[in-house]
Amino acid sequence: MRLGALEAGGTKMVCAVGDETGKIFEQISIPTVTPQETIPQMIEYFKKTQIDALGIGCFGPIDPERNSDTYGYITSTPKLAWRNYNIVGVFEEALACPVGFDTDVNGSVLGEVTFGQAKGKNCVVYVTIGTGVGAGVFIEGKLLHGMLHPEAGHVLIQKRSDDQYRGKCPYHKNCLEGLAAGPAIEERWGQRAAALKEREEVWDLEGYYIAQALSGYILTLSPEMIILGGGVMHQEQLFPIIRNYVKEILNGYIKTKELEHMENYIVPASLKDNQGIMGCLELARRAAEL
Ligand code: ADP
Ligand code: ZN
Repeated sequence: MRLGALEAGGTKMVCAVGDETGKIFEQISIPTVTPQETIPQMIEYFKKTQIDALGIGCFGPIDPERNSDTYGYITSTPKLAWRNYNIVGVFEEALACPVGFDTDVNGSVLGEVTFGQAKGKNCVVYVTIGTGVGAGVFIEGKLLHGMLHPEAGHVLIQKRSDDQYRGKCPYHKNCLEGLAAGPAIEERWGQRAAALKEREEVWDLEGYYIAQALSGYILTLSPEMIILGGGVMHQEQLFPIIRNYVKEILNGYIKTKELEHMENYIVPASLKDNQGIMGCLELARRAAEL
């Protein structure tokens, strides 16, 4: 089967064609402007490549619930041109093939569970820390939606007393995204995040905030693995810092073999930054099966 994959992001749309084994045959990237400008280019690409089904992992918030009136819409996004936009509808109409749809981060966790290091696990959380913070949750064989879909990047964080930064999220200020996404790091320290590599205090605070959120996810969802991706996590020194703070915060309350081997529990993505697009291939395969 020729499967189409679309990783729909706020800055770029990655379009790819591959198969159900996760093999990617070809891939292009189109800048995200407005639907009027961007959608026709993607439709042209997927028509030309003759796909049998399409999977979309999309920036949010979205409505991923098939029996809802607004299923397939990008809903209350701050990107005004894309607000209340029926992205699934336009592709279904133009391509006349099955279309699968979920959040970008649910796409990434699905990629890791289907093709990557999390294969065979029942409960896995994928967190991306980049321009924003988002989390995808795979639980008991399914991607978690519930009433909407997880928005776990916005859980509240207790600020450390030495941190004077007020927080960047317009809704909550001191949520994980407001305190620890790339733009918050850059505003707090006044420099590009990548250029702060040697500043230990930057990554110690960053790791502490990420660890607070992860500890909450561990206590709430009991994941068997937590995978961290996104631009900020290119700072690999964060991993041991996060693992240590999670241990400290949980304070021995939970005893499992996973937590005894933190280096295999809180881990980087395993698919060379293709976890999102590969997850979209699996979304397409699942849509074709329905
Ligand atoms: P997006 O979230 O827009 O899809 P990314 O996941 O690449 O894209 O995140 C971009 C953010 O990640 C930027 O705001 C930047 O601050 C941060 N970032 C990118 N590269 C690095 C790096 N090497 N080290 C630390 N932070 C980085
Ligand atoms: Zn927030």
